[in-house]
Amino acid sequence: MSAADAQDYAGQRARLVLEVDAMYSATRAETGFTAMSAPVRAALAKVERHRFVPADQQSLAYRNHPLPIGGGQTISQPYIVALSTDLVAPRAGQRVLEIGTGSGYQAAMLAEIVSKVYSIELVPSLGKEAAERLRTLGYANVEVRIGDGYAGWPEQAPFDSILVTAAAPRVPGALVEQLKPGGRMVIPVGASHGAQQLFLIWNRPDGTVERKSVLAVRFVPLVPGK
Ligand code: SAH
Repeated sequence: MSAADAQDYAGQRARLVLEVDAMYSATRAETGFTAMSAPVRAALAKVERHRFVPADQQSLAYRNHPLPIGGGQTISQPYIVALSTDLVAPRAGQRVLEIGTGSGYQAAMLAEIVSKVYSIELVPSLGKEAAERLRTLGYANVEVRIGDGYAGWPEQAPFDSILVTAAAPRVPGALVEQLKPGGRMVIPVGASHGAQQLFLIWNRPDGTVERKSVLAVRFVPLVPGK
């Protein structure tokens, strides 16, 4: 890539940040967020989304749209990635679990903010490619494992937060159990090709679990593992 291309992508990324700002404003009544948090905004401005999409999609990488990443899977719309990240209130020092590594873009966004990201991908080719990509880009604090996200990652639990990036028919109990007291989970819930809602699950410090529907969304399905 030439220096001119790199500069062009930086400019496109800056414009994307403004577009996502506008979507936060437009959805403030539903989400309760009036603006991106400073760390999420900085991560969105920094992570090179064009490196996470196939070569033929690179020119579209900074549109605020989902994009195909192969195998019928998609990288989510940047606004949804930013909002999901904000919903779990990430902080330096935290350990976070992601279900559905896909391209690795969401994992990279998290890795810019928290200390350690564990990410599980069901499809071996996608998981291996994402792990390799993250390593090349210098994200040494992301660990990718091939497996079934429904079971979570009990050896590394409990987590400060969990982000599920594929839609499940219901909230998997094993994942709620792997949240720390006070921990948060974001998960799209609903039919695989129908109406879905992005849910925020909060494991309150007193042990009760609170659920809140945040936004109507459309994600690829969380496939039951074998
Ligand atoms: N977070 C990704 C996009 C996720 S698309 C990114 O930033 O690019 C959803 C991903 O979930 C797909 O890669 C799909 O293969 C994966 N997936 C589906 N069912 C799964 C399961 N049971 N466990 C783990 N991953 C799963």
